[in-house]
Amino acid sequence: MGRKFFVGGNWKCNGTTEEVKKIVATLNEAKVPPPDVVEVIVSPPFVFLPLVKNLLRPDFQVAAQNCWIKKGGAFTGEVSAEMLVNLGIPWVILGHSERRLILNESNEFVGEKVAYALAQGLKVIACVGETLEQRESGSTMAVVAAQTKAIAERISNWSNVVLAYEPVWAIGTGKVATPAQAQEVHSELRKWFHANTSPEVAATTRIIYGGSVNGGNCKELATQPDVDGFLVGGASLKWDWEWDHVFRI
Ligand code: PGA
Repeated sequence: MGRKFFVGGNWKCNGTTEEVKKIVATLNEAKVPPPDVVEVIVSPPFVFLPLVKNLLRPDFQVAAQNCWIKKGGAFTGEVSAEMLVNLGIPWVILGHSERRLILNESNEFVGEKVAYALAQGLKVIACVGETLEQRESGSTMAVVAAQTKAIAERISNWSNVVLAYEPVWAIGTGKVATPAQAQEVHSELRKWFHANTSPEVAATTRIIYGGSVNGGNCKELATQPDVDGFLVGGASLKWDWEWDHVFRI
C-alpha cells in the first residue's frame, strides 16, 4: 500500500480572526487533488479551532498544536485530548521543537503525550529533529532515534501517527534541508522503524519533512522516495502555492 501524501500547515501562535478567515478562504478555493491522493491538515492556535473547523472545506482536516499529557483536570492553561475529541478535532501536533526547546518537553514527556492522545482517538503528527550543534557533531541520527524510541516504547500501533522530521536549524530560518539531507534522515528513520518496530510499520508510516518548506522548494523535496509530505510553518500562513507541485505524482 502506498503512503498517502500529507501536507500540514502549522500556523503556530499567529493570526487574528480576520487573518484566519482569510487563510481559510484561500484554502477553500485552492485546487487540490482529492483526499485519496493528498491529505491536507491545518493547525491553528487553540482559540481558532472551532472557527476554522466550521469554515474549512470538508475535505481538509484540522489539528491542534498540542494537548495535555493525561486526562484534564486541575491543570491551568492546558487543553486536554478529550476536549479536542469533544470538539471533533481529529489531529494533534506533538513534540514540536519549539515546545521541546522552549518549554523543555523531554522525549519521555512527548512519548507519554503521544500515547495518551492516540488512546483518546486522536491522530498525531509527532515531531522529531536535531539542532545545528547536534548535526555538526554528527549526532543527528542518534537524536532523532532517541526521540522516536521514546514514542515507540509507549505505543504499539503507528497507523494513526505521522512522523515529522523537522531539523531545528531549518525551522523558520529560510535554510531548508537539501532534498538529499531530508531523504537521508527519512531513509534512516525508516530503517530504524524496520529494526525496532516492524517491517509493516516501516513501510506504511508516513515521514514528512518540515523546516522552511515553501511553494518554491517543495517540488524537489517531494521527489525524494521517503519524503511523504510536509509540515509547513511560515508559508502556511499564505498558502499561495501551486498545489500541483506540492505532492508527488
Ligand atoms: P517553517 O516551520 O516552515 O516556518 O520553517 C515549520 C514548522 O515549525 O513546523
